[in-house]
Amino acid sequence: MSALPDDAALFERFPGVGLDHDNKGLYRGFLERELRLNRCGACGHWQHPSLPMCPRCWSTDVVATPVSGRGEIYLLTVMHQGPPTPGVDYHSGYAVGSVELVEQRGLRYTSAIRSDGIRPAIGMPVELEWIERSGAPFPVFAARP
Ligand SMILES: [Zn+2]
Repeated sequence: MSALPDDAALFERFPGVGLDHDNKGLYRGFLERELRLNRCGACGHWQHPSLPMCPRCWSTDVVATPVSGRGEIYLLTVMHQGPPTPGVDYHSGYAVGSVELVEQRGLRYTSAIRSDGIRPAIGMPVELEWIERSGAPFPVFAARP
């Protein structure tokens, strides 16, 4: 297992991200190419976005925990303009989706949807993949119709 960066090193790897105590486990997971969402140690409830407390049982025992990365597209938009981003081509349309993960109903993570020539659609199964963006791993979802 590789050494995990301390908080200062984590800020250096993700300079454009609003890192805080609640989401640093998520971004530390990026460096290990694991999508880690906060899960309650008391009742097992997953949550995202990251919060300091379980919204179901109010326990503060929440830990960034790897998810499978499997799910289906819950919401989908295709962007034709946006902020300049390395590797993003808005001209041909850049799909971004909220993916409902298999771990729990209502647990969703939003990122780019890669579809390799097919047209992504709501309800389509996806799997997690990793790309490099701005020198750090970045999670995206690949459509698997
Ligand atoms: Zn809980």
